[in-house]
Amino acid sequence: MSNYLFTPAVPSLPIEGSQQQFPIHRVYCVGRNYADHAREMGHDPDREPPFFFNKHPDSLISGGQDFPYPTATSDVHHEIELVVALKSGGTNIPVDEAMQHVFGYAVGLDMTRRDIQAIAKSKGHPWSTAKAFDHAAPCTALVPASKIGHPQKGQIHLDINGVRKQTGDLSSMIWSIPETIAHLSRLFELKAGDVIFTGTPSGVGPVSRGDFLEGEVEGVAKLKLRVV
Ligand code: MN
Repeated sequence: MSNYLFTPAVPSLPIEGSQQQFPIHRVYCVGRNYADHAREMGHDPDREPPFFFNKHPDSLISGGQDFPYPTATSDVHHEIELVVALKSGGTNIPVDEAMQHVFGYAVGLDMTRRDIQAIAKSKGHPWSTAKAFDHAAPCTALVPASKIGHPQKGQIHLDINGVRKQTGDLSSMIWSIPETIAHLSRLFELKAGDVIFTGTPSGVGPVSRGDFLEGEVEGVAKLKLRVV
């Protein structure tokens, strides 16, 4: 019997090939981690320190669930990303020890209210309402690194209604996965259950109700969903 006033929901992601679920602690996202996307958003992709924002753990949706077009926006963008899930964590993790904390990988969408984000940027306001809305993080099941290893290159792409919109390669990340984990661990204590959206290549753009989105990271997974 629990001592909670009500039963807390535990956000989780399925694990490919397992009956178990991966419980989510936090959702971290890296901004502008591919030079071509940084340029399309009007920034110089010099190797400035990485910057981060968060989504809520219960923003994750999985299993091919429909993506409900959010309220309070008329310009929702897709950002296809490789997602890294941690099985352990710590603080001040050295780059050369970072990968031992990785459980596995998924393909995710960092859905963004671009109109609200543009206003926030212009006013110096935080990005929460642009990035952390309900259902803002569609994601595939996690694929354990014990099955696929640690992808360092491979195509990442997104199609809408069969038309290619985003294309890139994991090898074009400005900050590698171990570097990202090391950086984050100096800002937060990382824990088992943390997932990190590692940034998107160029070609971001709007989605509409009825669109069918199909994204893939080569060697990891395919994500399919409909915007409703
Ligand atoms: Mn993103």
